[in-house]
Amino acid sequence: MTFTGKTKNLGLIGYPVEHSLSPVIQNPAIEAAGLDYAYIAMPVEKTRLREAVSGLNSLGFKGFNITIPHKVDIMEFLDEIDENAKMIGAVNTVVIKDGKLYGHNTDSTGFVTALEKKGFAIKGKRAALLGAGGAARAVIWGLIKSGIASIDIGVRNVAKVELLADAFRQYVPITVMDWETPDFQKGLAEADLLVNTTPLGMLPHTDAMPLVHWEYIRQDTFIYDIIYVPQRTKFLQQAQERGNPTLNGEGMLIEQGAAAFKLWTGHEADIVLMTEALRKHLGNS
Ligand code: NAP
Repeated sequence: MTFTGKTKNLGLIGYPVEHSLSPVIQNPAIEAAGLDYAYIAMPVEKTRLREAVSGLNSLGFKGFNITIPHKVDIMEFLDEIDENAKMIGAVNTVVIKDGKLYGHNTDSTGFVTALEKKGFAIKGKRAALLGAGGAARAVIWGLIKSGIASIDIGVRNVAKVELLADAFRQYVPITVMDWETPDFQKGLAEADLLVNTTPLGMLPHTDAMPLVHWEYIRQDTFIYDIIYVPQRTKFLQQAQERGNPTLNGEGMLIEQGAAAFKLWTGHEADIVLMTEALRKHLGNS
């Protein structure tokens, strides 16, 4: 890619950002679409967020992604926040237009799009989640928007997650249980979709996995792990061995990036190319 004085700037702020995969997937998509944009990762310490956001606006950036630790704190510096970001309680994408900053969250779209592309129709189905931290809010909101009938959440700390569940109970019945209880594990027989939203099994701790008693889980239950490194966690491996349909977090990562790309450029991102770029990078890193 050749950059000129006309090149429009996009990027990512977070701390740290060295391991971010966003530049890896965004720049090939920009090039493939024949667009004159550049996407870079910018480390911004927590105490410098206000200055950084104001600076990006002054510098004429067209937009940027936000990652840990700024996804919630960024909200106070924005002019408008869309419904997804409000419900999820975090912003991962900002569009800058005419000096105004518009906050979005594309994680729920990423989660749902990847699942639907795999042939799972969410409407009317019953879901169960393992773990409920930051990413789970996007998962829950995505499921609700797509018409899920109910959500059962299994966690190690019920009191902590009840608060999170309360934010969504006006839309759909949600139960929160200790995942070690027989009631939760037996109840998994009702689930059409089972999602791991914990980091258990993520590199380098690939021997870990969330607590599930497979004997209660039907063979047609769709097993979704939002972890993307490794491609096949221990949880997904066990699901595949018993013949369940499965999906990892790679598609969610790519689709949330593609949704941000669309917000900034108005163009569809080349998903296949982004996926190839991601796999090549992870294979080489
Ligand atoms: P988080 O906010 O730290 O939440 C993690 C959740 O897992 C919490 O409910 C936590 O429970 C639970 N948990 C962690 N360790 C546990 C253990 N040993 N036993 C039982 N529960 C445990 O993390 P997050 O940001 O939601 O991310 C979770 C995972 O999603 C990560 O692997 C991340 O890479 C992945 N992710 C993927 C995508 C994608 O695009 N594919 C996007 C975002 C995140 P406590 O609250 O009790 O600690």
